[in-house]
Amino acid sequence: MLLEVKNLDSGYGDVQVLTNVSIKVDAGEIVSIVGANGAGKSTLIRAIMGTLPAKAGEIHFDGRRIDGVEPHMIARAGIAQVMEGRRLFGHMPVEDNLLIGGDILRDKARQRENLEWIYGMFPRLKERRHQLARSFSGGEQQMLAIGRALMTSPKLLLLDEPSIGLAPIMVKFIFDKLPAVRDRGITILLVEQDVHRSLNMSSRGYVLEHGEIVLSGTGQELLGNERLRAAYLGI
Ligand code: ATP
Repeated sequence: MLLEVKNLDSGYGDVQVLTNVSIKVDAGEIVSIVGANGAGKSTLIRAIMGTLPAKAGEIHFDGRRIDGVEPHMIARAGIAQVMEGRRLFGHMPVEDNLLIGGDILRDKARQRENLEWIYGMFPRLKERRHQLARSFSGGEQQMLAIGRALMTSPKLLLLDEPSIGLAPIMVKFIFDKLPAVRDRGITILLVEQDVHRSLNMSSRGYVLEHGEIVLSGTGQELLGNERLRAAYLGI
């Protein structure tokens, strides 16, 4: 088991958003958390990353308990996050944005290798490596945000709504890269509103409603589930 969230309660101040959330992610999996707007998906990511406190429950990662651990230590332990909204350094060239991601690694040869791998996956970033990130389209920014997270050689990549605001062709392009990321040994926890696309590529998934996990199963089981089909796919 790479990540285990056990009976987690979390939220903002007195506002409890997540109630008794339990999920497991094995090394080598792509796992999806799906749910409507406001279901608590981003809140779960924040709790795992340590930017929101766990009010109850436990979070374990790679053999260590991480709830209560500082976010930068969680990043060092091997979790990288791609945030909704992307948070790039717009005034810096693309390559510097990537190298900042890789700064967490002491190993310069590894950084170089990661950079070449990322450029291979997203040639557009290589073509535009000297341009400022703020000149980028939404899709290019998403590639860069993913690239920056991958520069840290994470064990687990947390992807928060990678499809948001992107044209369908760009969403497909980005999703099509995820198996290659997994095959490099990087486990993926994907939080998405695009239920069909994300469950289709996931080994397992969880459905979050009003801060609680209401369904779980393999990607295909969930896609065949009548309740999920009615609520999220309009079938
Ligand atoms: P979305 O797709 O809209 O991001 P989500 O499933 O990720 O949805 P969250 O962003 O986790 O949902 O929000 C869950 C609940 O927490 C919502 O009711 C939201 O209003 C509330 N919430 C989110 N951020 C904050 C905050 N900073 N302070 C207080 N409440 C918040």
